[in-house]
Amino acid sequence: MIPYGTQSIDQNDIDAVVAALQSDFLTQGPVLPRFESALAERVEARFAVAVNSATSALHLSCLALGLGEGDWLWTSPNTFVASANVGKLCGAKVDFVDIDLDTGLMSMDALEQKLVQANKDSRMPKIVMPVHFAGQSCDMQRLHQLGQQYGFYIIEDASHAIGASYLGRPVGACQFSDVTVFSFHPVKILTTGEGGVATSNQPGLVETMRLLRSHGVTRDRSQMTEPVDETPWGYQQVMLGLNYRMTELQAALGLSQLSKLEDFVQFRRQRVTHYQKKLSCLPVQSIVEHGQGRSAWHLFTLLFDDPGLRTSVFSRLRGKGVGVNVHYIPVHTQPFYRQFGFDWGDFPQAEDWYRRTLTLPLHPKLTFSQQQWVVDCLEEALA
Ligand SMILES: *Cc1c(COP(=O)(O)O)cnc(C)c1O
Repeated sequence: MIPYGTQSIDQNDIDAVVAALQSDFLTQGPVLPRFESALAERVEARFAVAVNSATSALHLSCLALGLGEGDWLWTSPNTFVASANVGKLCGAKVDFVDIDLDTGLMSMDALEQKLVQANKDSRMPKIVMPVHFAGQSCDMQRLHQLGQQYGFYIIEDASHAIGASYLGRPVGACQFSDVTVFSFHPVKILTTGEGGVATSNQPGLVETMRLLRSHGVTRDRSQMTEPVDETPWGYQQVMLGLNYRMTELQAALGLSQLSKLEDFVQFRRQRVTHYQKKLSCLPVQSIVEHGQGRSAWHLFTLLFDDPGLRTSVFSRLRGKGVGVNVHYIPVHTQPFYRQFGFDWGDFPQAEDWYRRTLTLPLHPKLTFSQQQWVVDCLEEALA
């Protein structure tokens, strides 16, 4: 089976992990801060906080922004469940904003309409979390303007989008947001096995996220909230935290992978250009780049006119060993979310997208002949 996504690990990656394994520290050592600095520099952010998953990074971001009971978090229904779940984990209420069908991204028109209504009903969101679906940034400038006007925080779920750019700057620079989160799960653009990172330009937020990452415990006297006893072994727990730390093995892998980011994105772009050329004469649309920046192309998705045809093409391609997939089942239709009153029909664009979309294989090990096979199978299924 040709998977829709998979990692690429070379000898440098392996050597980096082995060196970390043979070093004095398997966790809480010197490689993690090096990885964080390199990553922050690459995406032009002041700070990076690396953790054990993007889900953890999203959770820490929400906690650090004070999301809690009685608050609302709004996100896209066209995402992995984690984007919404972190709101529930903070005890907040979660709602969704419908998408645009040409990009699969949160619709800024739908957001504005929903904000006008929420303002009347006093149900304003504390945090809006756009999702950079398939590796392409949302319209962050407009989102930021709405954030200024209505007073909400912005966390970018950029799990798909490391290596992307927006209006001439890397996604992750947080020019129009409070925090940006990337995922290093193996199907994403870079991998640390499991892992994620939050970037931000706000020192206070970053300090809180670092504390929360490690039990809310500090040895730094300036962070202590009570008089410090003079014992050299003293530490204080100043808030309720978690253990979301990233290991040195993961950080070493991340540092090595980061050096190949540009190559990975270029490779994906080449493959996408080839798909676009080959598919231009077939009766399917493919996802478009909106022109405000460069997509990192985590996913290459198609949109069929006919949902029935989508489903039969899915089965025929799977039957030939082509690991097509569907991104995403709208989060509000999941059984867990339906118990809060959501149902089919609530976000029609996201549901239409779900019924008509198909993700083709796109990853750093996809060979030219494999890609040709995918195209041949697709042509045959559509003939
Ligand atoms: C993968 C993904 C996540 C979760 O990332 P993990 O690192 O697996 O926790 C969150 N949001 C989106 C959009 C994702 O694709």
